[in-house]
Amino acid sequence: MPEAKILVVEDEKALAKILRYNLEKAGYQVITAHDGDAGLDFFLEEKPDIVILDIMLPGKDGFEVCRAIRQSSRTPILMLTAKKDELDRVLGLEIGADDYVTKPFSVREVLARVKAILRRAADKPAPLLARAGTLEVDLERYVTKVKGKPVSLSPKEFEFLKCLLQADGRALSRDELLEKVWGYDRSMEIDTNTVDQHIARLRGKLGAEAGRIVTVKNVGYRLRKD
Ligand code: CA
Repeated sequence: MPEAKILVVEDEKALAKILRYNLEKAGYQVITAHDGDAGLDFFLEEKPDIVILDIMLPGKDGFEVCRAIRQSSRTPILMLTAKKDELDRVLGLEIGADDYVTKPFSVREVLARVKAILRRAADKPAPLLARAGTLEVDLERYVTKVKGKPVSLSPKEFEFLKCLLQADGRALSRDELLEKVWGYDRSMEIDTNTVDQHIARLRGKLGAEAGRIVTVKNVGYRLRKD
């Protein structure tokens, strides 16, 4: 990935400087932040391709910054750890980091990790996105957003939304939805109220975009795309 943008969040200024110098020399664009809050602000503003994140930081620490980033983004994160207990938490993967290096590290090691992470990221296919207004659904990663903010849907609610989006404005009957989402067929005589209940919950979660799901009288539902 030429000219990848890297955000370095490291409060030891000398170390941040060494990283910046070497990463720039390797052809990357580098932004540095010296505390967690600035790191998170820069992340949101600059949309870097990768974040190198120290753990012990003034303000929000690296764990908090990592979790905050993971609420809305899958941007790769390389953690810098100095203590064994920090490393244990990173290895526990409870925070969603992609990789780590332990301090003291060699710059060459950091560069190799960055290169490997970016190569892995480049190999991933582009996300399969479906959009309607401010509703955005990543059909592969099961991520739903309204106005850029993630919405938490149950697997069934997500399948519903996916079916409606893929129907491309066409109305789907309750039977069709049951069949597509649950794999039921008509002979099983499943109560179609189940569909209505899920749609009601889904609408509730979609907030400002709830009106996209239109009830079609005596038929079922469709998703308004315009
Ligand atoms: Ca530190």
